[in-house]
Amino acid sequence: MPNFICVTCGVQYPESETPPAYCPICEDERQYVNPAGQQWTTLEDLRREHQNIITEVEPGLHSIRSEPRVAIGQSAHLVKTPNGNVLWDCITLLDDATIEALNKLGGINAIAISHPHFYSTVVEWSRAFGNIPVYLHAADRQHMQRPDPVIVFWEGETRKLLDDVTIIRCGGHFEGSSVLHWAGGAEGKGVILTGDTVDVVADQRYVTFMRSFPNYIPLNASTVRKIVQALEPFDFERIYESFGNVVKPDGKAAVQRSAERYIKAISE
Ligand SMILES: [Zn+2]
Ligand SMILES: [Zn+2]
Repeated sequence: MPNFICVTCGVQYPESETPPAYCPICEDERQYVNPAGQQWTTLEDLRREHQNIITEVEPGLHSIRSEPRVAIGQSAHLVKTPNGNVLWDCITLLDDATIEALNKLGGINAIAISHPHFYSTVVEWSRAFGNIPVYLHAADRQHMQRPDPVIVFWEGETRKLLDDVTIIRCGGHFEGSSVLHWAGGAEGKGVILTGDTVDVVADQRYVTFMRSFPNYIPLNASTVRKIVQALEPFDFERIYESFGNVVKPDGKAAVQRSAERYIKAISE
């Protein structure tokens, strides 16, 4: 039986003979159902007309994205460290060429995902690399559509995955929305990889914070302050989000100045 995938969000569901009745991720106010109606695909179908492009974005960091675009078109990132490799966030398309290319880069030891929009086909990715653990924040447990023993629902505010790689729960976009801190990135000055809850904007000196990006639902001031506070103990120079924008110099100051600007804009 196939594992159906929602065309709009790219999230995969448990095996079923017929597609699910609807996609709870897209029905949520932060996403949207395709105006043409709910549509489904499978990994097999996607493999026929799509491929993944893997690009080194800085030493030790690769982005992985699909062409033509699948679902919302996000990238995943592979963080390579002397102590192991972590896949940050996930994309829907997984094929033999991708597995081979990533194994050449040292494989993957663990997967961590920022929030439910990027749960995609994460169970398939785990299986392909030896049933490696998949870290999802427990506050978003109800959004996981394909439960599996490889999933580790972590609790609390931070989770150290490797010596220099830590998941930080920021909240905001989702209750459990998290970012990945890689201390060894940016020549040792530190990097954060964000999945929507801290999003780099067109003017790459700034980020923004939203409950929903496609539906433009803002966050309130105290939630934005909590995101800044969650990042406060960590040093980072660069910020990589999921769609190719990067804050290059002084990422931490960019988060602070962006939060001040945002809170000013939503205050009376
Ligand atoms: Zn969906
Ligand atoms: Zn999202």
